[in-house]
Amino acid sequence: MMPENNALLRAASTALLVIDVQNDFCPGGHLAVAAGDAVVAPVNAMIDIAENVVATQDWHPRGHSSFASSHATASPFDTMEMAYGAQTLWPVHCVQNSTGAAFHPGLKTEAFQMIVRKGFRASVDSYSAFFENDHKTITGLDGYLRSRQIDRLVLAGLATDYCVAFSALDAAALGYQVSVVMPACRAIDLHGSLAGQISAMQDAGIILLDHVPT
Ligand SMILES: [Zn+2]
Repeated sequence: MMPENNALLRAASTALLVIDVQNDFCPGGHLAVAAGDAVVAPVNAMIDIAENVVATQDWHPRGHSSFASSHATASPFDTMEMAYGAQTLWPVHCVQNSTGAAFHPGLKTEAFQMIVRKGFRASVDSYSAFFENDHKTITGLDGYLRSRQIDRLVLAGLATDYCVAFSALDAAALGYQVSVVMPACRAIDLHGSLAGQISAMQDAGIILLDHVPT
């Protein structure tokens, strides 16, 4: 049985998984999510009480295949067929070592016990914290969590309908008990993607919390 919300984050077997709270996904960034910076305060509040905190960081080389500018005739938000399936093309964002790839300056990054960088391979994107977009190449996060006997995850960050949802769905498929803190997430919402991913997460047994655990 799931512990009460107020004990969930304090449990040794639970990790808070902070997804991509980076400058480029916040207002003023290259792939800004509306009010993306509004997640910083609730994420910090959870960091204050969480026993375990893990973060992801989108981390692309220049000319990454997920950038529209890397393809002759493509525009941002087009869909392109890659070797591994359909891929949305994005504006250039989260280039390695750039200011845009840095975590939001207000985020309590000192609490991060592990940072999983993703999207560093030029030819494949990675929305999920667990698998790259080919759904086969692992990031290593599952092994890290299992070796620390962590079996419950609380997710927050950016963006609800892409990296948060893909991470939550993979986590549920891998057998973790998963909660997503909706007030600590913000969405891109491209072509109804938010509603679709909310349904998918509910169907997978993921708990969508409408409040921030305290
Ligand atoms: Zn990216």
